[in-house]
Amino acid sequence: MTVNDSSAFDVLIAGGGCVGATLACALGEVGFRVGLIEARPPATDWPAGSVDLRVYAVTVASQRIFENLDAWPGMLARGVSPYEAMEVWDAASGGRIRFDAAEIGEPVLGHIIEQRVMVAALMERLEALPGVQRLCPAEVTDFETAGDAVRVRLGDGRQLGAKLLVAADGKGSRVRERAAIPVQRYDYRQQAVVCVVSTERPNPATAWQRFLAEGPLAFLPLADGRSSIVWSTTPEQAEELCALDEAAFRARLGEAFDYRLGAITAVGERARFPLARQHAERYVEPRLALVGDAAHVIHPLAGQGVNLGLLDAAALAEVLAGTRERGRDIGGLSALRKYERWRRGDNLAMMLAMDGFKHLFGSELPPLQRLRGLGLGLADRLTPLKTLLVRHAMGLDGDLPALARPHISAAGAGLA
Ligand SMILES: Cc1cc2nc3c(=O)[nH]c(=O)nc-3n(C[C@H](O)[C@H](O)[C@H](O)COP(=O)(O)OP(=O)(O)OC[C@H]3O[C@@H](n4cnc5c(N)ncnc54)[C@H](O)[C@@H]3O)c2cc1C
Repeated sequence: MTVNDSSAFDVLIAGGGCVGATLACALGEVGFRVGLIEARPPATDWPAGSVDLRVYAVTVASQRIFENLDAWPGMLARGVSPYEAMEVWDAASGGRIRFDAAEIGEPVLGHIIEQRVMVAALMERLEALPGVQRLCPAEVTDFETAGDAVRVRLGDGRQLGAKLLVAADGKGSRVRERAAIPVQRYDYRQQAVVCVVSTERPNPATAWQRFLAEGPLAFLPLADGRSSIVWSTTPEQAEELCALDEAAFRARLGEAFDYRLGAITAVGERARFPLARQHAERYVEPRLALVGDAAHVIHPLAGQGVNLGLLDAAALAEVLAGTRERGRDIGGLSALRKYERWRRGDNLAMMLAMDGFKHLFGSELPPLQRLRGLGLGLADRLTPLKTLLVRHAMGLDGDLPALARPHISAAGAGLA
């Protein structure tokens, strides 16, 4: 395959993060000719005991996508951290809800996985797929559509052709900007402070979230008993927390977490990320589709961002395979709109739900505080409602793509 040949690829993917790499696997598995263009070489090894600052809660639906693409064993080999319980409580009202995997007959509620683990396992899997060519490091700088092809320009001057370009290049997507697709953006005026911490008592495979007046504080369990924390708060407090010396930060964090695991005994490097909701007004144009954070960015409070992106990738792969089977153009608008209809509504619903939670739990109005205390207590006692909530958190609700359903190969899912 020569990369300057305009008909060399069926699909070019800009961005080889978790979502772009998953899409490349799903398309490569069923024989599409794919070019995966990634600006930064991914990490392949790292010091034992170190933890990536980008650590994600991965739902059971996402795990199934990885299993069905045969990338899951590579993640298991590099290390994943299962969690069996989830506990959410409200600092102001004391209301609390707890979910246990055992209660619904499941072994786990999900896994905490480092971003670099996911990407390394997906890259390893891609090496076994002859139709996928990785271009890395290489940056997409521009593209233009002409007739039934899209021509993509790279930073080093190379030009590649395909039937479809997919933007998986993250929240600041250059491809989306070049396509002049507007985004609706809402600045939460919050930042997330993240780091890895050790606690007096090891984290017992539980994902914890405490709602504080300034924002939620999450402790995600790591397999060795440590926790990866995401502390969403005001920009001013985030700056202050990152500037504190270690002892003062440990004390503040312990208090904010209500000492649920005892004192904080050690903290790693701290980083902070600004938080904003962002949604592209369109996911598709002729010969172009947006997936993952290029299409939508949501508040990390329920740890759903990458999971929604993985569902986008699985849904788009399914639509493209079906389109090809019917002998239609995979870059045509009617095929792409099917993908957009499938995913845009689900993503919007999740964004609105996250905003609802954020506002409800951010309110200092006493009646609302009482209401959420009552609501959490009630939900904790109502088994059907609890089961509904937990299935939602596990990503098992909604119109799931075939790859997110249990144990099938991509070919068996009707993608071939
Ligand atoms: C504090 C915090 C905590 C979070 N926690 C969770 C969680 O627990 N669970 C969860 O599901 N989500 C979580 N998220 C969300 C998650 O980080 C994102 O949803 C996810 O990273 C999106 O993946 P992506 O592949 O779409 O984009 P990215 O991960 O941003 O990947 C984009 C890739 O494109 C490449 N790229 C960019 N431009 C170009 C170009 N022009 N050419 C070629 N390559 C390019 C980049 O190098 C990058 O590798 C969290 C987010 C934050 C901020």
